[in-house]
Amino acid sequence: MTDCIFCKIINKEIPSEILYETDNVIAFKDIHPVAPVHVLIAPKLHIENIEKLDSENISVVCDIHLAAKKIANDFGISEKGYRLISNCGKAAGQTVPHLHYHLIGGKRFGISIV
Ligand code: 5GP
Ligand code: ZN
Repeated sequence: MTDCIFCKIINKEIPSEILYETDNVIAFKDIHPVAPVHVLIAPKLHIENIEKLDSENISVVCDIHLAAKKIANDFGISEKGYRLISNCGKAAGQTVPHLHYHLIGGKRFGISIV
């Protein structure tokens, strides 16, 4: 999708700090990090959010989880732990309508999810 900011990052039309890339997924640093490690992992295919996943495109979720595991290991946070979050829709606070997961870590979170 041409007016999608993450599609532009994927197509290298706007710069980003890319950490990992395969044929299907891309991972880059969040421009406004909320933790020492804050990486966004997205499918290269434009999918709006979890609500648009189906049996045809669901394999991207496997790719994203495997990417998250690798990136967490690269940052040395696998043992300590990290969060993998996808905001779906306005009430959840999704601001970019291209499916993505926030990999956040490098700090200790409380037991509360919000
Ligand atoms: P959401 O609110 O949709 O779950 O998350 C969108 C995330 O994308 C936010 O954390 C925001 O900081 C990040 N973001 C928005 N625009 C850009 C950008 O142009 N480059 C990068 N690297 N991150 C962005
Ligand atoms: Zn997109």
